[in-house]
Amino acid sequence: MADDPFENMLAQMDRAEEYADVDHGVFERLKHPERTLKVTLPVRLESGEVEVFEGYRCQFDSARGPFKGGVRFHPSVTQREVEALAGWMTWKTALVDLPYGGAKGGVICEPKELTDQDLERLTRRYTEGIRRMIGPETDVPAPDMNTNPQTMAWMMDTYSMYEGHSIPQVVTGKPLEIGGTPGRVEATGRGVSLVTERLFEYLDRDLSDASVAIQGFGNVGSNAARLLDESGASVVATSDVSGAAYDPDGLDVAALGAHVDAGGLIEEYVAGEYRGNADGSSWDDPDAITNAELLTLDVDVLIPAAVEGVITADNVDDLRASAIVEAANGPTTVAADKALTERDIQVVPDILANAGGVIVSYLEWVQNAQEFSWPLETVNAELERRIGTAFDETIEQYDTKGLPDLRTAAYTLALERTATAHEYRGLFP
Ligand code: GLU
Repeated sequence: MADDPFENMLAQMDRAEEYADVDHGVFERLKHPERTLKVTLPVRLESGEVEVFEGYRCQFDSARGPFKGGVRFHPSVTQREVEALAGWMTWKTALVDLPYGGAKGGVICEPKELTDQDLERLTRRYTEGIRRMIGPETDVPAPDMNTNPQTMAWMMDTYSMYEGHSIPQVVTGKPLEIGGTPGRVEATGRGVSLVTERLFEYLDRDLSDASVAIQGFGNVGSNAARLLDESGASVVATSDVSGAAYDPDGLDVAALGAHVDAGGLIEEYVAGEYRGNADGSSWDDPDAITNAELLTLDVDVLIPAAVEGVITADNVDDLRASAIVEAANGPTTVAADKALTERDIQVVPDILANAGGVIVSYLEWVQNAQEFSWPLETVNAELERRIGTAFDETIEQYDTKGLPDLRTAAYTLALERTATAHEYRGLFP
């Protein structure tokens, strides 16, 4: 089960079904994506070779509004993974009450082996492949793993070229200069930091005494690390594909961030060549540990911020964190989830914890429609209000209905909202 994210998503739904007020027929309907398009993408690389890539766009459910979800470029992308991620987008947009359904796209590729020109051609070819499916009122892509504002600019441009005029709101997560919003790049990390603060308030614990381990130092992990560090928590460990850095006294998050922003690996940082601030005001001295060891550190909060299926039946008994905040999509298998519930380890589920990204995507889409731009303070205040409301509603559901864990609480709310939309709309024809 750990290997198949779609099975894992279905199992999460099944766990919630007994508590959710949802008609069984509608519930069965919600287990199937509306459609998935598979596209073949031949690209002439800068080297002169032609390479044939494969990509997908899954539109999972649109009862609550246009499809919404990111596009991921990664060697391990599969159709099932894209479909699971599209399902999670559906539950996420419902939980944070955005007028959207859920979708996801993916291209099987290793971006590290491609030049900028290769990535541009691949992105444009993929956009051409899915362009009949997407649109500002139908399906709105955004960044995900290994895609960024530049990728969105290429997607927006390709789509707009076919339409004959600029259509910024066909994608979100764009550069500011072409209709992006302030605050989008750091939004997912900011949301992770906000829900961690809320969790500590709920548990009546002080975040400024807390130690945090973050698996993954990409866009989400690094921004969550920076913001948690700013709110007084001690980020003691983080990692990338090369390995993990651990310092029980707290990492120098700013120095590490500068190193990684300049293209450095965590392994190199730990080896000592690049440690410390450029002005010499600090000198970090972390130990090298593995990604597997990071997950089992004795910390107050563990934040998986990388890929799916990292907390499994195989390692769950070794986990020592007292709370988990899921910045990644689908990091915990259902078997591990049950063990965490039994051990009373609070898990803030992905569909709540990492919803900051799609919330600010929505705010970008709204600004595009209004042809009006908001200042960063307005965006951040609206993000905080929306994710805070979803957190409070999840806690209320958990406390008042006596549910086993926060994931079940979040799923019951999301499933009920999506099912209600289906019931009002009815079956066609
Ligand atoms: N890829 C992000 C996610 O998994 C954001 C999606 C969006 O903004 O549409 O939530």
